[in-house]
Parts: sequence; C-alpha cells; structure tokens
Amino acid sequence: MAKILFLVLGLLLAYWILKGYRRKAGKDGQPPQTGGEEDMVRCAQCGVHLPRSESLTTGGQFFCSPEHQRLHQKPS
Ligand SMILES: [Zn+2]
Repeated sequence: MAKILFLVLGLLLAYWILKGYRRKAGKDGQPPQTGGEEDMVRCAQCGVHLPRSESLTTGGQFFCSPEHQRLHQKPS
C-alpha cells in the first residue's frame, strides 16, 4: 500500500516540477515586471532610464517609446 502512495506522490512531484518548468520557460518574449538586476538603458531622445527589455533598439540606441524612436530618426 505504501508503494502506491509513493508512486502517486512521485507522479505528483514530477507533474509539479514539469508545470513549474513550463511556466518558467514560457515567459520568453513577455518580460515579467522583475525590477532589480536588469540592465537599465537610456532613451536617446528624452534621456529617461528604463529596463532594457522595455526599450526599443535602433542602430545600437535605445528608446523609451515608438514616438521617441521616430522623433530621433526624423528630427524636424
Ligand atoms: Zn524617450
């Protein structure tokens, strides 16, 4: 009887681990709001600092928004 319990427990554990792993792997593309240790970059247009994952990059320069990206490319 104890064997079955162990088996069920083991399966449950494996399921949990797989589930957790999937959630971790699935975060790619959508940056979570982790502050902390992420690289901060500076908007080339307005100079505001923001996490690299939230910035837009063009030609090695970072921007805080599509508007600033456009403004910087076409100054007028
Ligand atoms: Zn900006």
